[in-house]
Amino acid sequence: MTQEELWQAVLAQIQLTISPANFATWFKDTTISSIKDGVAFISVPNSFAKEWLEQKYHKTIFKILHELNEEIRDVKYELSKPLTQTIRKSFISFKESSGQLEFSEFEVDKETNLNPKYTFSNFVVGPCNELAQAAALAVAENPGKVYNPLFIYGGVGLGKTHLLQAIGNEIIKNSKTKRVRYVQAEKFVSAVISAIRNHQIEKLKSLYQVVDVLIIDDIQFLAGKEKTQEEFFYIFNSLYERNKQIVISSDRSPRAIPALTERLRSRFEGGMIADITFPDFETRMAILKAKCQERKVEFSEEILNYIASTIQKNIRKLEGALNILIAYRNLQGFPPDLKIAKTLLKDLTSSTSKAITAKEIIKAVAEFYDLKEKDLLSNSRKKEVVKPRQVAMFLLREELKSSFPFIGRKFGGKDHTTAIYAYEKILKEIEKSENLREEIALIKQRLTSGEI
Ligand code: ADP
Ligand code: MG
Repeated sequence: MTQEELWQAVLAQIQLTISPANFATWFKDTTISSIKDGVAFISVPNSFAKEWLEQKYHKTIFKILHELNEEIRDVKYELSKPLTQTIRKSFISFKESSGQLEFSEFEVDKETNLNPKYTFSNFVVGPCNELAQAAALAVAENPGKVYNPLFIYGGVGLGKTHLLQAIGNEIIKNSKTKRVRYVQAEKFVSAVISAIRNHQIEKLKSLYQVVDVLIIDDIQFLAGKEKTQEEFFYIFNSLYERNKQIVISSDRSPRAIPALTERLRSRFEGGMIADITFPDFETRMAILKAKCQERKVEFSEEILNYIASTIQKNIRKLEGALNILIAYRNLQGFPPDLKIAKTLLKDLTSSTSKAITAKEIIKAVAEFYDLKEKDLLSNSRKKEVVKPRQVAMFLLREELKSSFPFIGRKFGGKDHTTAIYAYEKILKEIEKSENLREEIALIKQRLTSGEI
């Protein structure tokens, strides 16, 4: 039996004992890379899978391997080549479609929160975004001098974050001394809430006083949060009066953000407002071609045409489709033909992507962490239940925008403050822990792929 056959035999047995979703998550892209001195080395695509195989499946794997080959006395797990990791990462980042938790091969700078992958040079300009791009570029070249604030709005996945980040990156490129800070409004909200709680609001404010360029992404999250708006207004004014550049994005125009205090709204309207609309076919093709070039891959015109004509309203999805085809090509060694491409992209192109329910989230989380749903919903304080429960609460909030009182009630009749605490805790931990980010991405992946 070759190593490959041996591993296939192991997988065949494991597959019988666990759910298809778990099998796909933990055993996809695994192989035996070598057997040395009685030790079988299993190569796994990421550190997260490695940990799970070590902790949860080691005994089973070892038992089966040993039965098949008595010489095997131990099993070790190691990471496979970076290329495979990259493919998987691109899969994850596509599937994880809300976009807030993107994985990237680039490092995000801790001070500025800027990701160097977003630049003006890789932003494709078309009729849908030319005004926003021109304004962004003007601001990047002359921060604080042309349009202040610059307010960019448009639907999901149309390039707002890309443009905002490009402004920051460009400014830093031109002048190393300029202090730029990019924040997601959601993060700003939780920073304000915890600063208030810890009596550190002055400290938080002073942190923002020293920047030259403040970039706030997805400002609609401030809707209805009056206290946060108040603090933001203070920071905004203090920067604005000193001609510091402020750039803001939102999924809708300032007028359409409910519960935005009038003074903030009029501040926003006092600057430049530019929207981004859906890209036309030519722009979609140009984006696909640019991404292919960037990734050094080629696909037939027919395939690019197919993607560009079926995915019309979301550039992130357009990229996601391409990522899937690239992953296929890298795994197979050749690009897919049109028929295969259509099958691969079925999930993405079916317009009826189903709505996720609270029940499904709870089920997905319970299944993922190998718990019973009723334990997740109970009052148990056991460590192995507490974190998954917080993750479930977090997802209810993130994915369904459920109210905190609703979430609290759902989980054993808890108070809404427990739900807020859970949500913020996970939000904070996501920043620190790559593992948690992956866990959540994988849970979401299951939810959106209809595996639940
Ligand atoms: P939003 O913030 O509006 O939801 P993003 O800025 O995150 O959207 O864009 C989604 C993805 O699409 C990103 O990977 C981004 O790089 C890409 N993208 C969006 N617009 C363009 C464009 N005009 N040219 C190249 N890539 C783009
Ligand atoms: Mg965005």
